[in-house]
Amino acid sequence: MSTEPAVTEPEQPPADEVAPDTSGKIRVLVVDDARTNRQFVGDLILQRGLGDECVYAEDGLVAFKALRSAPIDLVVCDLDMPRCDGLKFLRLKATDAAFANIPVIVVTGAEDVTRKVQALTTGASDYVVKPFEPNELAARIGVHLKLRKLQAELLSANTELQRLTQIDPLTEVANRRHLSERLDEEYLRARRYERPMSLGMLDIDYFKKLNDNYGHPAGDHALIEVAKIIKFTVRRHDFVARYGGEEFVMLLPETPADRALLAFERVRSNIEAAEIMYEGKRLPVTVSLGVASCPHQLLTKGQDLIMLADTALYDAKRSGRNRVVAAL
Ligand code: GH3
Ligand code: MG
Ligand code: MG
Repeated sequence: MSTEPAVTEPEQPPADEVAPDTSGKIRVLVVDDARTNRQFVGDLILQRGLGDECVYAEDGLVAFKALRSAPIDLVVCDLDMPRCDGLKFLRLKATDAAFANIPVIVVTGAEDVTRKVQALTTGASDYVVKPFEPNELAARIGVHLKLRKLQAELLSANTELQRLTQIDPLTEVANRRHLSERLDEEYLRARRYERPMSLGMLDIDYFKKLNDNYGHPAGDHALIEVAKIIKFTVRRHDFVARYGGEEFVMLLPETPADRALLAFERVRSNIEAAEIMYEGKRLPVTVSLGVASCPHQLLTKGQDLIMLADTALYDAKRSGRNRVVAAL
């Protein structure tokens, strides 16, 4: 390791530390070595209401620093600038994936086709040639801001869809599909680094009877409350999933059997003690748990932990329910 002190530049946080802008303000970065040009483009943006705020930079390096210190929605950038020109700025911008979706419109005096092509292949979204018609620049800025907004909406819709494919809609914990992906990953990690890991399979006792006696909506309510208690009891890094109807799986990375048994006993006793009420009546809810931990000689893949825990759960049921049993 280097013994040199780390050089930090507080005015330049890494891009991923730029707080996302939740104000909905549109911020445009205007880059030009000539102050009058910067002012002209900035006034155009502000006066036409294309953006709410303009940030100014006199060369590519200053522009790159600006990009790293505040959320920017679009860049209007001159190509010919002393020190760090527009192409260098585009190359700097391309080094950080966090900036990939910020459109850059290059403004150039160059009639040279090669340079325009070079700008476009280096990451510019569009260009205008100086002297430009203000209406044209305004229209192009409008188009790119609109595209960026649509792109952001698409991205957030995608993220939400992705989340929905991974959660159980009733209890809002992970679903079985998500569990199976996570289990494989965690198992491989635990085996490679020879780390302990435990898995608990939980099943609500006499749940059919609860549905029969109090109604299905009461059963649903019990499921939601049990999921909440589990989430509240385990650690933040533990993984909770609804495995089936009234079965939940808890995955505890970095946790050997003895500590897992303590954690699962806490889950069991918290559920037993909870006053789960439905329409003024306290629902009688207890759970049984089977626990499997690795390393274990019967394990060859993540799913084997489920099989072992399920066998232990069966023993917990057979020996009287409302208890935690470890796999042999
Ligand atoms: P045991 O103590 O042996 O686990 O008995 P049990 O009655 O809990 O087990 P069984 O597997 O016979 O019954 C499970 C019940 O869970 C049957 C089914 O109606 C109910 N169930 C499954 N999913 C849901 C659900 O989403 N909502 C409600 N309310 N009930 C559900
Ligand atoms: Mg069951
Ligand atoms: Mg049950």
